[in-house]
Amino acid sequence: MNNKITAILLAGIINTAPVFSQQGDPKATEVWSPVPKIVTPGATSSDAPSDAIILFDGKNLDEWVSVKDANTPAQWTVANGAVTVKKGTGNIQTKKSFTDYQLHIEWRIPATITGSGQARGNSGVFLASTGPGDDGYEIQVLDCYNNTTYVNGQTASIYKQSIPLVNACKKPGEWQSYDIIWTAPRFNDDGSLKSPARVTALHNGVLVQNNFEIKGVTKYIGAPEYKKHGPAPIKLQDHGDPSEPISYRNIWIREL
Ligand code: MG
Repeated sequence: MNNKITAILLAGIINTAPVFSQQGDPKATEVWSPVPKIVTPGATSSDAPSDAIILFDGKNLDEWVSVKDANTPAQWTVANGAVTVKKGTGNIQTKKSFTDYQLHIEWRIPATITGSGQARGNSGVFLASTGPGDDGYEIQVLDCYNNTTYVNGQTASIYKQSIPLVNACKKPGEWQSYDIIWTAPRFNDDGSLKSPARVTALHNGVLVQNNFEIKGVTKYIGAPEYKKHGPAPIKLQDHGDPSEPISYRNIWIREL
């Protein structure tokens, strides 16, 4: 490019350069209300903030019932600040029902876990329990630190619907966490779906589900589908596999 052309091009750029001075009133775009309410955060991000409902604080299962019989206290074992699945007693679920929420839950696969595939520390968090047994929307709990299974059924999958973005598993024996943001599905009066559920989840602080649109309730066999429901409990799974039972601790929720 010769100097003359360069000069002409530069002149063009200078002549068409935007004006950087701003005009108008910046206050016109300021919003002052409603003022967000004050929440005191926990000492660490795993500690419950001031507006959380504590679902399990390590001492008792007062906030939980057996899924087999809602009048029966949850039968799992509480010891050393954790609750451990008691195989054969069935799933447990919260007494309270929820719609949209932020959930924190910690879980641990036993250090001595055995088994493989889906039979290695299998449990699960049902983000809304829509009926007995395993009815609901399950985010999988499983040991996949060094264990292979179908990827839409591995740890942090939305079981048989959504593969986790990454495998963020810690070693068996170490505590792990899920932080989950759940937007419940909405239904029309005639039972048809108005808007699907959505889920965002972090596993050990790592994003594993990013605003995934839920396709329906979890199905072991067949395609997921929606059935109208309202606010629902959160349910933890007593899976029937023979591997050692897993433990949970520090469970809290913020309704949104
Ligand atoms: Mg499971």
